[in-house]
Amino acid sequence: MKVLVTGGAGYIGSACVEHLIQEGHQVIVYDNLSEGHRDAIHPDAHFIHNDLASSIDLHGCFQKHNPEAVIHVAASALVGESMANPSKYFTNNVANAVNLLDAAVNHGIKKFVFSSTCATYGIPESLPMAESLPQLPINPYGESKLMFEKILLWYQKIHNVEPVIFRYFNAAGATPERGEHHRIETHLIPNILKVALGQSSECMIFGTDYDTQDGTCIRDYIHISDLAQAHIKALNPGIQGAFNLGNGGGYSVRQVVNACIEVTQRPIKIVELPRREGDPPILVANASKASNILRWSPGLTSIHSIISSAWDWHLKHPHGYLD
Ligand code: UDP
Repeated sequence: MKVLVTGGAGYIGSACVEHLIQEGHQVIVYDNLSEGHRDAIHPDAHFIHNDLASSIDLHGCFQKHNPEAVIHVAASALVGESMANPSKYFTNNVANAVNLLDAAVNHGIKKFVFSSTCATYGIPESLPMAESLPQLPINPYGESKLMFEKILLWYQKIHNVEPVIFRYFNAAGATPERGEHHRIETHLIPNILKVALGQSSECMIFGTDYDTQDGTCIRDYIHISDLAQAHIKALNPGIQGAFNLGNGGGYSVRQVVNACIEVTQRPIKIVELPRREGDPPILVANASKASNILRWSPGLTSIHSIISSAWDWHLKHPHGYLD
C-alpha cells in the first residue's frame, strides 16, 4: 500500500516506517522535524518537510502523492510538558490532527490509523486495563488524545472513515537502525541509559510513595518494533476500532533501573524526588483485543531484551542522531 506516515521522523514513527518498507509498502513521511530527525527517516521513504498546521500543504501532499491510508503518529507526547503548556497539546494533537483528517477525507481516504495512548484512561478502575474502561484522563496530553479519538468516531459515522485507534503503553527499545533521541529527554529508559553512558551523573526517580510494591510507578513497556507490527496489521481490510498495545506486564521505576544496571553492567546512581505531576501510579495493558482481532502479539516481551536493544543503539549512537 501507499501510506502517509505523519511523524515518520520521530521515535515511534520512524520505526513504523522502517517496518512498513521492509514489508514492501510505499511510504510518504510528513514531518515538521520539530521533534524528529532527518537521519531517522528511512532512505526509501519520500520525505515531505511540512507542518500539519498548514491545510494547504496537506491538501497539496494528498493531491500529489495519492496515499491509500494514513498513519498519524505525529504529536506532542510529554505528560509533564502538557501540565505546563496545555495549549501546545490541544493545538498539535487536536487542531492540527483535524486538519490532517479533513485533508484525508477530502481525498477519499478510509483507513486512518491513529497513535493514541493509555494516558486517555487516567487512573484505571481495574488492572490490567481493557479498552472498555472509562476514559478519564488526568493530564492535557491524555485529554488531547481522547478528544481526537472522539473526533475520529464522529468522522467514522459521518464520513465512513475506518479508524484504527492504538492506545500505546510505554514505547521503548530500538531497532538496530533507529532509537530514542529526544532533544530534551524526559523518558525513563533513555534517561537511565544516559547515566550508564556517563552523560548524566544520576537518574531521577519521580515519586517513591505510590501505593505499589516498591513505592514507584509501574508501567507496561512495549518494544517499538512490536508497535510497528501492529500498524502493519491495521492496514488489513476490515480492521477498525480501538486497541491497547502493551505487553500485559508491568515494571516499577526501580525495577527498570535495576534491569538497566544488569543489561549495561554499569553503575547507575539514582536520586529520589517527589512525584511528577500528572503521573498515574500503575498502567498495565490487557491487550487481548489486539491479539484476538488484529492477530497481534508482542515478540520482545522481556524488559531486559527491550532495554538491551535500546542500549545497543545508544552505544552505537552515543549522541543520538547527528541532525
Ligand atoms: N520517570 C522517572 N524518572 C525519569 C523519567 C521518568 O522516575 O527520569 C518515571 C515517570 O514518573 C513515570 C515512569 O518513569 O512514572 C515512566 O515515565 P516516562 O516519562 O518514561 O513515560 P510516561 O509514562 O510518562 O509516558
